Amino acid sequence: MTRFFATLQQLEHFIRALRWQNHSTFICPHCSSCDQWFSHGFQYKPLSIDSQTIAGKRLICSNRHGHSGCGHTFRLYLSTRIPHLHYGCAQFFSFILALFFNNTDLPCTVEQAYQLATGANNPRHAWRWLAKLRSQLPLFRSLFFDRPAVVANNTFTASTDGTEHTDNPHSLLKVSVAQLSQQLHCDTNTHNLCTVFQHQTQNRFV
Ligand SMILES: [Zn+2]
Repeated sequence: MTRFFATLQQLEHFIRALRWQNHSTFICPHCSSCDQWFSHGFQYKPLSIDSQTIAGKRLICSNRHGHSGCGHTFRLYLSTRIPHLHYGCAQFFSFILALFFNNTDLPCTVEQAYQLATGANNPRHAWRWLAKLRSQLPLFRSLFFDRPAVVANNTFTASTDGTEHTDNPHSLLKVSVAQLSQQLHCDTNTHNLCTVFQHQTQNRFV
């Protein structure tokens, strides 16, 4: 089911098309209707105490004004946003880069990587982020189990041979993320792995 869109224009075009086309594949998970969708406004993410950014839009399976839906709402997201996470793909990918692919002599701790990525003074969510990423490993592997590995042009490729990870307490996670970028053909020099993952697989990254 489509949930992530590269741009707001694509998202809005998709919603408009729902009203005029028979989207039999976009089925309400609660009542199985496919023709009662209506736009239900923007959803926002706060950037600071006095500013916010668009994270996506809500749809409603309408049960109003004679419509036969169930009234449940459904969220569509921009691929750059991670559902249920305050920060977006930009920060989460920075966290991954700092933690796993920091090529300096002094590896980042989990707390340092979190603070580098988010600019937050308090790193209390750092280990929660790592746990979220670790909990996705079964999904990453299930999605790409049958796909042949492809050597993509990315910064991770040189680190996937299994020879340099013994000093890294997150070696398994590091290798898995590197393999994920290869399977997605994601050039991590120029593209955000989290965004690419969400757009290609239509699953949230964490
Ligand atoms: Zn419904």
